[in-house]
Amino acid sequence: MRIVVKIGTSTLAHPGGRLNIRHTEALVKVWSDIKNAGHELIIVSSGATGLGVGKLQISRPKDMVTKQAAAAVGQCELMYTYDKLFAEYSHTVAQLLVTWEDFDHPHRLNNLQNTLERLIQLGAVPVINENDPISTEEYSLGDNDRLGALIAKYTHADLLVLLSDIDGLYTADPHTHPEATLIHRVESVTPEIEQLGGGSSSGLGTGGMSAKLTAAKIATGAGVDMVIANGANANVLYDIVDGKDVGTRFVGKNNKIIQEVVCIKGNTPIEVDNRSGDINSVIIYSKNILKLNTIDDDGRDSTLFDMPEAERKDYYIQFKVLIF
Ligand code: GLU
Repeated sequence: MRIVVKIGTSTLAHPGGRLNIRHTEALVKVWSDIKNAGHELIIVSSGATGLGVGKLQISRPKDMVTKQAAAAVGQCELMYTYDKLFAEYSHTVAQLLVTWEDFDHPHRLNNLQNTLERLIQLGAVPVINENDPISTEEYSLGDNDRLGALIAKYTHADLLVLLSDIDGLYTADPHTHPEATLIHRVESVTPEIEQLGGGSSSGLGTGGMSAKLTAAKIATGAGVDMVIANGANANVLYDIVDGKDVGTRFVGKNNKIIQEVVCIKGNTPIEVDNRSGDINSVIIYSKNILKLNTIDDDGRDSTLFDMPEAERKDYYIQFKVLIF
């Protein structure tokens, strides 16, 4: 199985930003064992800003530049720690730092996909984070839950696991509603489920439940199962991989829903709205397709197809666009 594990700052670091050695050592041990059992593993790790704050012994910065500077310090600490701990189990780590723009440019995305594929073939463990020191606010991925989902989507992973400081999705916020119960399985991220998201985030991390539900939409829309579970118990990953009922599992959509579009008049831009994540494939019959746009759950418009003026011909073409 190809598994993407996203680990949050609140699990890796203590509230002041110092490394949580107990959690991190236990996690790397289990991850190494999962890899030894034959699974492919990609880690999406937060913690750069948090660990940088801890190492610099500053209070949690509010301004962008100090946060970015702290991330530059903390990213070294993070990779040093992973390198050291994975090496104890004879595994090799590789660092990849990405920004939104890397998912926006087909050739950069293609390079990212190829590099990840080769690293996995070579037996390395890719450790991915956002390139915080250079990403600007408007182009920032914002949270690593979304980054984890995009990585799972573009590496065609079988499973995305978000390890957090919460056991999963509850029927209400368990901090304020002690009677709330854990939801074990979500077949579809409906507006009712989204309402359970709220927006809270804890301590040094950035992603709250609503960020996790956005990630669930991206992952399940791409056919990837996603599980939210508590990273304080590293062994939980064994149960998740065995398909046991721990945390909350969001079931990946596997029946491909195809949308057919017939465009009678030529030169008409076609727009496919895939924010629901339900459309996996679009078949278009058209004369002179000028432009095809999608609005998808990555939250961005993207042009899938833009036919140069000179190449537009007056005959029917049919083509199929796969939207993963
Ligand atoms: N990239 C951020 C960091 O390493 C974390 C983002 C997040 O917490 O989701 O500090």
